[in-house]
Amino acid sequence: MHYLSQALITYSINVNCIGCTLCAQKCPVDAIAFTPHEKHIIDTEKCIKCDSCMQVCPEGAVVVEEVSNHEMQLCGIGGCGLNELINEIS
Ligand code: SF4
Ligand code: SF4
Repeated sequence: MHYLSQALITYSINVNCIGCTLCAQKCPVDAIAFTPHEKHIIDTEKCIKCDSCMQVCPEGAVVVEEVSNHEMQLCGIGGCGLNELINEIS
């Protein structure tokens, strides 16, 4: 995955999570708190988008989402043709 497009995605965990803790054990930067039997949560500030949690999850509960245009505009990088650039390189 290209560096720029990777910067515009975020990992999260959906309701399919059964709290098996595998992702928390695999995460190299402790971005997922170890909470057995509960829905796990990714700390996006810590996450380095290594994909390990998605690969290990038995429930397919880890999802990758694009940072929305709204969020991009909030940080001042939307509306400048960036989407078109991303589409070209991804
Ligand atoms: S993508 Fe990698 S760094 Fe991010 S939460 Fe998953 S295992 Fe941790
Ligand atoms: S590996 Fe999947 S099911 Fe297990 S705790 Fe993590 S997100 Fe939930």
